[in-house]
Amino acid sequence: MDYKHITVAGSGVLGSQIAFQTAFNGFNVSVYDINDEALDRAKERLNDLKPRYQADLEATQEEVDAAYGRISFYSNLAKAVENADLIIEAIPEIVEIKTNFYKELAKVAPEKTIFATNSSTMLPSQFVEYTGRPEKFLALHFANEIWKNNTAEIMKHPGTNTEVFEEVIEFAKAIGMVALPIHKEQPGYILNSLLVPFLDAAQNLLVNGIADPETIDKTWMIATGAPNGPFAILDIVGINTPYNLSLAKAEAGDKKAAKVAEYLKTEFLDKGRLGIQNGKGFYEYPNPSYMNPDFLK
Ligand code: NAD
Repeated sequence: MDYKHITVAGSGVLGSQIAFQTAFNGFNVSVYDINDEALDRAKERLNDLKPRYQADLEATQEEVDAAYGRISFYSNLAKAVENADLIIEAIPEIVEIKTNFYKELAKVAPEKTIFATNSSTMLPSQFVEYTGRPEKFLALHFANEIWKNNTAEIMKHPGTNTEVFEEVIEFAKAIGMVALPIHKEQPGYILNSLLVPFLDAAQNLLVNGIADPETIDKTWMIATGAPNGPFAILDIVGINTPYNLSLAKAEAGDKKAAKVAEYLKTEFLDKGRLGIQNGKGFYEYPNPSYMNPDFLK
């Protein structure tokens, strides 16, 4: 892997973190976004990341300033990718926006450039026909707060070249990630393939009146030694996300999911209980009962 120059397309929540993490590890980074206002917001986001790296990674002021100094900003896609060994796409999770983006990118990117999508819910094969380079396209999926939650799920589609896959795995390691190779396309990658059914099972136990949230979490914690249970995790994720997931399944005819969605709406969202983000969810914060040492007795 001799990548030197990385382009990050989309400089929102994840794009700005990917750009900073990549520059912090010594790569030259071009950030691409749709206009100057979006790039101004990106600069603010990147500057806000500096103290996070100093607090969480004990980075020095010189190191974070040097990282910022390796980043340049473009609203012209051709200029943003002219030197790119790899472009990481982190633009909105909307099929039409991504489709149009790959069509434009295919026209202007150098032949050598590898394309990687950070999409959480879409598969590379949904866009592969627009890239003009199926063998050089794959998914490279990061977690929010990338510098601490340093997983990188690297996922092939059926046409991805194996060498490209291996190179992107090396790149992920070179920017401080734990690389998690995924050999076949899988919606939800590894983490959500495990987590979503687990959280669904917990919510079904609750809405069917089998047991209360604390009892369910306690069971999981004692039996597995995990630091928290499914309802504590739902509070961390925020109730809106499981609500939206259940609603989508309900609209596709899933009756169990409809019951969960209705419950989350009336008991949580309508009552302003959104999870940790506003201090109230299945637990009350900042001192949720599951953190109390007596909780497991
Ligand atoms: P976001 O809304 O915070 O940022 C999107 C950015 O893309 C914005 O800066 C916007 O101006 C820009 N943009 C819009 N249209 C564009 C275009 N045509 N070309 C270039 N840039 C464009 O979104 P986000 O939360 O950073 O998510 C981006 C991607 O990362 C999505 O695919 C999402 O699934 C994925 N992701 C998000 C998270 C998360 O926790 N937020 C975690 C992992 C993966």
